[in-house]
Amino acid sequence: MDIAIVGAGMAGTTLALALSQRTNYKVALIEAFEPKAQSHPGFDARAIALAQGSVQSLSKLNLWSTLAPMAKAIEHIQVSDRGHMGQVWMHADEHLVDALGQVIELERAGPALFAKLADTEVQLFCPDTLARCEQQQESVHLTLNSGAELSAKLVVGADGGRSPLLASMPFEPQRHDYGQTAIISNLETSKPGTTAFERFTDQGPIALLPMTEDRYSLVWVCDRNKADVVMAMDDAAFIEALQQEFGYRCGQILRAGKRHHYPLFRTHLSRPFHHRVVFVGNAAQSLHPIAGQGFNLGLRDAVTLAECLASAQGADPGLFTLLDDYWQQRQPDVNTTLGLTHGLVKLFSNNNPFLQLGRNMGLLAMDLAPTLGQGLIRQTMGQHHQRSATW
Ligand SMILES: Cc1cc2nc3c(=O)[nH]c(=O)nc-3n(C[C@H](O)[C@H](O)[C@H](O)COP(=O)(O)OP(=O)(O)OC[C@H]3O[C@@H](n4cnc5c(N)ncnc54)[C@H](O)[C@@H]3O)c2cc1C
Repeated sequence: MDIAIVGAGMAGTTLALALSQRTNYKVALIEAFEPKAQSHPGFDARAIALAQGSVQSLSKLNLWSTLAPMAKAIEHIQVSDRGHMGQVWMHADEHLVDALGQVIELERAGPALFAKLADTEVQLFCPDTLARCEQQQESVHLTLNSGAELSAKLVVGADGGRSPLLASMPFEPQRHDYGQTAIISNLETSKPGTTAFERFTDQGPIALLPMTEDRYSLVWVCDRNKADVVMAMDDAAFIEALQQEFGYRCGQILRAGKRHHYPLFRTHLSRPFHHRVVFVGNAAQSLHPIAGQGFNLGLRDAVTLAECLASAQGADPGLFTLLDDYWQQRQPDVNTTLGLTHGLVKLFSNNNPFLQLGRNMGLLAMDLAPTLGQGLIRQTMGQHHQRSATW
């Protein structure tokens, strides 16, 4: 085996598909859960916003046509601060694009992408779990829970934010616990639409993303104690509390689906590879969902790694120089996105009146002088990465 990918969430699956299209390397993909398993940790109830740059990357890999029928376009974005005047609007037509981004549901999108692996040469080990990983001079030896053994020149850890592979290796990830929880739920409201809303409250942001079938996907971030209370509410109390925090931008909240919750933390590696093992996606870095950048960043990891491997076709895929080249290309984007996301959390989860005034004036200024918002919208749309992407 040339390359073994551990974990077939969104990052591992797209990487396997990209490698099968662009390289001749023999690829194995190991995943603990069947794609439609109830408790799949990667393909769960989350709906995520894809930046336009991600949609373009997926199109170049011929994967967007699989996702498009289940995607909802974001045509407008409104950002506001609870209790203050400042707000900013962004509109797709002002940026001469059809959409500012697209929203997909992981429990539909993930299995659809995973199904495409059947048309490839990728060797699937699913359901199976990596039990042991032994780095040797010329290869890495993997033992799976089923008893299967394989040897690969390169192992890619795409096994998520709590990566067991990373934990078994000599890495020291930097970890920051935000002390916050994200609660998600699908909503039916009296005013469905194509606007994504982000509203900052003194506890954390509330985001509503437009979804197919005239629904909204909610991400409500609050501190852990409040999250426990919100999770314990019955539906009527939950809807009332949310309506009070969020207001009536989408009209009245008529129904709320099952709630799920995610503790929020940031992890980051100063260098995500070590002797024939490299990490991508959430295994390499986990972000706060405030700016919806997690998978957008993980997809750029997968695309860049596949590009590096395509350029090296025929060479040993686990060479230090190749992995170092990959990281040289990824480091600026990863550091910028981590820094911007962390900065936003700090700026918007703070009751300091000077910070409140500053961010409120910032939002007002961006709405009055749209060019000031260009940097933000470029980040949201993933445009700054298009120059380097060749596919
Ligand atoms: C509330 C919330 C909202 C979000 N919103 C957005 C958004 O709007 N936009 C965006 O881009 N991102 C968003 N994200 C982030 C995004 O969901 C993640 O970045 C992305 O889904 C992570 O994908 P992954 O493949 O890297 O990891 P995962 O989805 O965690 O996949 C890891 C896979 O590895 C498997 N695995 C683990 N260990 C083993 C093992 N030992 N053997 C075999 N398999 C193993 C697991 O079963 C799993 O399938 C959001 C996240 C949250 C929590």
